[in-house]
Amino acid sequence: MTKPKKNKIRTDFRKNRVSRQRETDLTRRFQHEVTDADADLVQSESVSGKGALTRRRTVVGDVAENDDTGFAVHPEVDLSVCRSGTVLAVYGLESVVETEDGKPFRCVTRRLLKTLATDQRHVVVVGDRVWFRPQGENDGSIERIAPRHGVLSRMSRGRQHVIVSNIDQIMIVSSAAEPVLKPHLIDRLLLNAEKVSIRPVICINKIDLVDPADLQPLVGIYGQMGYEVILMSVETDQNVDLVRHRLKGCQSVLTGQSGVGKSSLLNAVSPGLNLPIRAVSHDTHKGRHTTTSARLIRLSMGGYVVDTPGIRQFGLWDIEPNEVVNFFRDLRPYIDFCRFPNCTHSHEADCAVKYAVADGKLDARRYESYCQLLDGD
Ligand code: GDP
Ligand code: ZN
Repeated sequence: MTKPKKNKIRTDFRKNRVSRQRETDLTRRFQHEVTDADADLVQSESVSGKGALTRRRTVVGDVAENDDTGFAVHPEVDLSVCRSGTVLAVYGLESVVETEDGKPFRCVTRRLLKTLATDQRHVVVVGDRVWFRPQGENDGSIERIAPRHGVLSRMSRGRQHVIVSNIDQIMIVSSAAEPVLKPHLIDRLLLNAEKVSIRPVICINKIDLVDPADLQPLVGIYGQMGYEVILMSVETDQNVDLVRHRLKGCQSVLTGQSGVGKSSLLNAVSPGLNLPIRAVSHDTHKGRHTTTSARLIRLSMGGYVVDTPGIRQFGLWDIEPNEVVNFFRDLRPYIDFCRFPNCTHSHEADCAVKYAVADGKLDARRYESYCQLLDGD
């Protein structure tokens, strides 16, 4: 059976604060076990103190290797009592945590987590996987935050503020027409996705309005780079199933200019969502929060999408001009062959990237996009 809860909790701080000598193996094992426990929790709604989970209770918190942002403090929790869930929203000191079976709990954050954190504002962020101790029917106290991946953040006064965590993919939604297709915008959103190392999926909606054959060259260019491109139409139901499948079980961000059909798409894949269509502004109904607040919306088939008022401001991720090329998968292979090591591939002589464009090995439109983004567009 479960041992009584230890008072002393061993934790490490973020990796840039404390040296990590003893950690490698322990961390690997810890992460592994957390993942296993996670999988178990998905299958059984109520967590019992028996079996594998009890054994895992002996794992002591540590810094997660892949947790490069936010708080890597993971104190031990009593898994026989605590439940796991996903943070859907954060309101000041309280968070809404939803369990696997869709039950929301209003949670405070355990004092220990706050004490260990270096920036109280972001102890818990939307998207976090947490373990919490239920109190009564609807309340609880968050005891541990799982290691984060796929973090979107913004810099504010020299500090990184995490807006949302555990994003599995960024769905770049555009439309074939109405509004007109803007490949440059796709490139820009791809740049952002590459910068934060989150898998992008390109969705081109409203293909009922065009001849899909006209889109093939563009689809080919992105396909060659390894990006998935889905041509779809909410109107005719084309590939809506495929998009549903991509969103299922993931935490996704949908990004793209207004009017391309993001709300229509979500309503189509997740009936009952009833998001307003043609909503000019999605943030009017929650005035008390600033653009930094985000919220997760549960999809009927499982998975969440991020509803963030200022999602396009994610474009503010500061990307230095000299690193832009690193996020262009197609240009990158050529840069080692430029004459100047600090070549920006714009005005320099003997630039391998420009030669590749001239030779037709690189798409001229992509190169144009690169030049615009280099200029800080
Ligand atoms: P959002 O601003 O990206 O959320 O876009 P909306 O979902 O509000 O949709 C904008 C408009 O595009 C609405 O009038 C929709 O009916 C229309 N729309 C959405 N999907 C399609 C589609 O596949 N084909 C066509 N023709 N219109 C669509
Ligand atoms: Zn060059």
